[in-house]
Amino acid sequence: MTKYIFVVGGVMSGVGKGIAAASIGKILQAKGFSVTALKIDPYVNVDAGTMNPTEHGEVFVLDDGMECDQDMGNYERFLNCDLTRANYMTTGSVYQAVINRERNLGYGGKFVSVVPYIPMEVIDRIDKAALKNKAQVVVAEIGGTVGEYENILFLEAVRMLKVKKPADVILVLVSFVPALGAGGTELKTKPTQHAVRAVESVGLHPDIILARAHAPLDKKRKEKIAFHCSVPEEAVISAPDVASIYEVPVNFEKDNLSGVILNKLKLQPRKKDLRDWQGLVRVIRRAEKPVKIAIVGKYFGAGDFILEDSYISVIEALKHAIYFFKRKPQLEWLSSEAFEKNPAELKKLRAYDGVVIPGGFGSRGVEGKIAAIRYVREKKIPYFGLCYGMQLAVAEFSRSVLGLKKANTSEVNPQTPHPVIDILPEQKKNISEKNLGGTMRLGAYPAVLKKGTIAYESYKEHLISERHRHRYEVNPVYVEKLEKAGMIFSGFSSDRRLMEIMELPKSKHPFFLGTQFHPEFKSRPLKPHPLFREFIRAAINKRI
Ligand code: GLN
Repeated sequence: MTKYIFVVGGVMSGVGKGIAAASIGKILQAKGFSVTALKIDPYVNVDAGTMNPTEHGEVFVLDDGMECDQDMGNYERFLNCDLTRANYMTTGSVYQAVINRERNLGYGGKFVSVVPYIPMEVIDRIDKAALKNKAQVVVAEIGGTVGEYENILFLEAVRMLKVKKPADVILVLVSFVPALGAGGTELKTKPTQHAVRAVESVGLHPDIILARAHAPLDKKRKEKIAFHCSVPEEAVISAPDVASIYEVPVNFEKDNLSGVILNKLKLQPRKKDLRDWQGLVRVIRRAEKPVKIAIVGKYFGAGDFILEDSYISVIEALKHAIYFFKRKPQLEWLSSEAFEKNPAELKKLRAYDGVVIPGGFGSRGVEGKIAAIRYVREKKIPYFGLCYGMQLAVAEFSRSVLGLKKANTSEVNPQTPHPVIDILPEQKKNISEKNLGGTMRLGAYPAVLKKGTIAYESYKEHLISERHRHRYEVNPVYVEKLEKAGMIFSGFSSDRRLMEIMELPKSKHPFFLGTQFHPEFKSRPLKPHPLFREFIRAAINKRI
């Protein structure tokens, strides 16, 4: 008895469909339903792993190693759940499955036409995801905008499902309502009317319209949309701009969105509420004292417009930890290439309570990152290195403390005499192959923690599980030398071959820690990641 809520976009992209879908999931969860969320991306890429984050935003990684769209991160954060590859599909992955089945005679000699077989595969996957997550309600977001060719077969899947189960399927259109006139006060509903026509042209009709606008809709605008788009007035929901994405579920409830959905799906609300979440929103609104964090990376040159999207999980994880201390996040971006051009720029780092170097690939900006790491290590500014940020901290320490002046990662310099970071043995084979998609060390792996370390004191656990996405590792040949020189490996694989967490003792530095994994993927708004939390604690204490 699964209920299905499809979320599609009208007028234009980038209006926050992902957050809308995650928020719909959240408010239904708060009404006592088990909810899962699923993303359908219209591109031919089989997964998001081969896409450039500066163009498409962060590549989010699930426990099972799936490399997917950043919206999956929003679902996990809003719904406080761990999703699997069952909850993600692209045109490429759907076609690949259908073609593989055809090659294996899975269609029993039938003529495999695009319709109905492609939409059938889509529906089948949605049902499997519902089953796997034991969900009563599935919220499925369809990427792209209605009216394009790209997502037409996904909309056909919605149509087919709605014909079969009319009482169990609803369609939510997230539409943009622009403002015109001096001061931008006049909200224009016509584009939404056109978007509804586009939905109707594929045999569907929206049950609910979420009106994305800079301000809430007034009564007149709601009536207008309701009348021209043939939806009841209570199903026209305001989705105004908000200062924090975590306000969106609370805002939807101001217009009784969960009531409208439950009514349509003939579901009775159970007793539960959004109280915890509302508490978070209050903290976000009231926090005044800033925590100032610099994020040092290479993606911040001219033309890199969506830098925030490329590190969205890092940003959110920092915010969760900062909200935990009831402080106001002040996150700033510093280009590591600027440090290379002018080392005097490094002094800027003094103005921050803490510095993060997130994940990355390739050699651009690497020397600037290493210079920044040396600066924060020497000046005792709290430092948190994520993946590449950990590897480069090991390279810096090897150069400055071990005296291996040319120490490097072999990713940057394959000829380095001291490859302190080197390719993982199982990656050697992959890197020479042509078929590179999905071949990194991906997804959740366990790590053992060493007692008496920052890592252990943060997690308070012996065994942790964290998500990975990398090809290189700390070279085991150098581990003993690094330890003798004062570096602590506080987390490692159970066979002690792979170093997962590196830190400096508290007696030497207030917080200097790096992880080979990506802790940012597992932080939740109401449950900040323990390492982010302790990093921020150190950043705050430094300020006092
Ligand atoms: N480029 C490094 C590697 O492949 C780090 C990857 C990352 O930061 N995600 O090992």
